[in-house]
Amino acid sequence: MRSLTKPEWLRVRLPSGDTWNTVGGILEKYRLHTVCDEAHCPNKGECWGLGTATFMLMGDVCTRGCRFCAVSTGREGRPLRHDEGDGIARAAEELKLRYLVLTSVDRDDLPDRGAGHFAACIRAIKERLPAIKVETLTPDYTEGEFAPIAEAGLQVAAHNVETVRSLQGVRDSRASFDKSLATLRAAKALGVPRTKSSLLLGLGETKDEVLAAMDELRNADVDILVLGQYLQPSLKQIPVAEYITPEQFGDYGRAGRERGFSSVVSAPLARTSYHALEAWDGTLP
Ligand code: SF4
Repeated sequence: MRSLTKPEWLRVRLPSGDTWNTVGGILEKYRLHTVCDEAHCPNKGECWGLGTATFMLMGDVCTRGCRFCAVSTGREGRPLRHDEGDGIARAAEELKLRYLVLTSVDRDDLPDRGAGHFAACIRAIKERLPAIKVETLTPDYTEGEFAPIAEAGLQVAAHNVETVRSLQGVRDSRASFDKSLATLRAAKALGVPRTKSSLLLGLGETKDEVLAAMDELRNADVDILVLGQYLQPSLKQIPVAEYITPEQFGDYGRAGRERGFSSVVSAPLARTSYHALEAWDGTLP
């Protein structure tokens, strides 16, 4: 397929400034990975410039191979670091974060798929920073797997359906729309106050399919919706089928709010953790 020309509204802010360098230095000091780097997030210039980043647990090798994702894949992930939670807590303290987003690679090679490590990291973070608010963006954990994470104390449990039902084949074959809905329902059943899910648009979906996905997410009691443009990270991933205009994102945002989501982040460069604090506390512009 011929690649489309990237429209001007997708130009991103280049990384620069003291805060950017401070964030990079702190992450290096504690040997931490971020999804900002590993997924080639287009908002890195903005987020790091504002002194925030999204930590990625359990190394930089994912055991799944979604066709849109830039994170490295392998049959086995990296050995777990038992000081990872403490390192994140120290980094968050130095960055003066009030709200922290933790994500991870998929770890199908571990007996609990990494859920226990997620929970241990949250506990270590809260031990050092008891007032911090935590959001997780996890793999498709079952209710049993998610239970220790919910018990560790969260504000928001995010898990992404990634795209509409008809295009779920772009995800790893072990993932599905229904499994993702089950994870989101499980988090609510375990008492997490809010859940959140994202779709990447521009993969070939129709407007009706996006609206139907919104309806299914609301029926699963999801509170926060994020819609952003898919950007092909490198030639190894699937090409962009369509660039969705900012006006279309605006229309989707209104459709989401009409459906009762408490927050909707719908913009070309929106990503799950983009303005996560504001999406949680309802102060989005
Ligand atoms: S949107 Fe999230 S992943 Fe992207 S740079 Fe910002 S904090 Fe990192």
